[in-house]
Amino acid sequence: MKIESARFEFSAGTCAQLPPGDLPEIVFSGRSNVGKSTLINKLLNRKSLARVSAQPGKTATINAYRLDTCRLIDLPGYGYAKVSRAEKLRWGNLVNGYLEAKRPIALVVQLIDMRHEPTADDRQMIQYLLDRELPFVVVATKSDKLNGTNRRLRTQSLDELFADAGISWLPFSSVQGEGVPELRALIDKSCFPAAAE
Ligand code: GDP
Repeated sequence: MKIESARFEFSAGTCAQLPPGDLPEIVFSGRSNVGKSTLINKLLNRKSLARVSAQPGKTATINAYRLDTCRLIDLPGYGYAKVSRAEKLRWGNLVNGYLEAKRPIALVVQLIDMRHEPTADDRQMIQYLLDRELPFVVVATKSDKLNGTNRRLRTQSLDELFADAGISWLPFSSVQGEGVPELRALIDKSCFPAAAE
């Protein structure tokens, strides 16, 4: 992908507003405040293409960024406690609607906060991805916030939880740039699986 080709394409509040799936889609999923917008900006080398949420949980829309070889799909963050039942329901309809819509999903980038155990919502999402046999990678954000000892402990824990179960995961820091080349390479490989082999 040519990162300089990235441009904001659409924001959908309902599934009916989604345009045709005419490009491989890279989907970003995670709880509010996990660092999703920051990661997308970092990947695309932009300051503020994806909005870094001033009001966590407020934006229950699917936002899409178009590149030359793929489309990045930014799902609304989950797990924000202060949203109403109605808003949670709307979130569920939107996200389920997208994931069930037989879109050309090339890769789901499932974000978790590296400092903590995955939340119940994170686990539910990962189980869903496994059940649906969707290609995905777990990206553990904010790795720069861990000191050496804690990093080793968290790495061991995530290896036991994911790597031992055949799920790939990688540490990521939008501050230090850790994981950026790896994730870009994975996205490229997912968009052109045959060419990468
Ligand atoms: P979103 O709600 O998932 O889109 O989260 P944001 O991208 O808005 O990030 C939430 C907060 O975490 C912001 O204050 C970011 O500056 C901070 N943040 C995001 N990624 C990182 C990271 O890799 N390292 C550090 N130290 N902070 C981060």
